[in-house]
Amino acid sequence: MSRLISVRDIQEMIRSGQGVSIPDDALITPSARDFLGELAANGGTHPSAVKAAAPASTSAAPPAPPAKKLNSKSPKAELEAFFNSPYAHSLKEQICEMGHRLWKRAYVDGNGGNMAIRVGEDIAICTPTLVSKGSLKPSDMCLVDFEGNQLLGTKKRTSEILMHLQMMKRQPQAVATCHCHPPHATAFAIANIAPPTCMLPEYEVFCSVGVAPYRTPGSPDMGKLVAELTDQYNTILMANHGVVTWSHNNIEEAYWRMEIIEAYCRTIVVAGQLGKPINTFTGPQMKELLNIKQSLGFVDPRFGMKECELCDSGEWRPGATCQAPPSGEVVTGLDPEAEAAVKAITDQILSQMQ
Ligand SMILES: [Zn+2]
Repeated sequence: MSRLISVRDIQEMIRSGQGVSIPDDALITPSARDFLGELAANGGTHPSAVKAAAPASTSAAPPAPPAKKLNSKSPKAELEAFFNSPYAHSLKEQICEMGHRLWKRAYVDGNGGNMAIRVGEDIAICTPTLVSKGSLKPSDMCLVDFEGNQLLGTKKRTSEILMHLQMMKRQPQAVATCHCHPPHATAFAIANIAPPTCMLPEYEVFCSVGVAPYRTPGSPDMGKLVAELTDQYNTILMANHGVVTWSHNNIEEAYWRMEIIEAYCRTIVVAGQLGKPINTFTGPQMKELLNIKQSLGFVDPRFGMKECELCDSGEWRPGATCQAPPSGEVVTGLDPEAEAAVKAITDQILSQMQ
């Protein structure tokens, strides 16, 4: 079991003169974390190397980002100080937490899945290769430049880092990226279709979904095709592979998109099996949801469309009838090939569930 570290434990380490050393898998109380942050700020060194005592703090404010923006050309000592700072540590912990959630929800298998957070002009903290997201530790994290060169970290960076970096280069708003293989959303990626829209509010507000064609994972071509979609989409289905999301806020929001698209895909597959007509949003209802989405700063290719154009023109709509009047600009009708592919996958999923 992980050891719980309190402020008293840290004070005891300092008193004993042994220095502060926190095991990687230790649980740290919020006040102990603040205490460590203040120690580091006062000493100008990493908490684990701090030997001097400092006053305890009860504030719960998260560590502040560095005042000076770093880049890949910054002196190594500055990059190291940053990488070992309480702020960078808090980002590494967030990645670990999201990794644990991905694993618990079975969105990743083996060493699958990877994440990155932009931390400067052209540098990012990312997950290592060949580590299960279920057992990620802050000390596993890597610092890379935007060409994918590893700058710091003892483990080797993920082999899929190029895609994350190409997304960040193409989409300046992308602060954090998350990639994994949630089964139902990945099923749509295998069928090469975006899920139909106009059915659930969370999906409409949080996700804008595009589909990128298949390329070998980790190849520059894969990253390029995904990156091109980030102008209009924050959730990208990677054909025959999985899903990647980005957020302009933080890694948790990029992770939320995974939960939302996966739950949505699962729900509409089941809804399509009920043998009842599926109700969809009207144009005005969709417009309201898109207004909320725009106010949250998310991207969507449908902003600015007329209400009558918002009704889904997707290739697969299980039992749903379009609520909007037909318009010359709206593509209607089903693609029999796509429908057959989805039906085959749906049958497979359902037979596994039985
Ligand atoms: Zn993958």
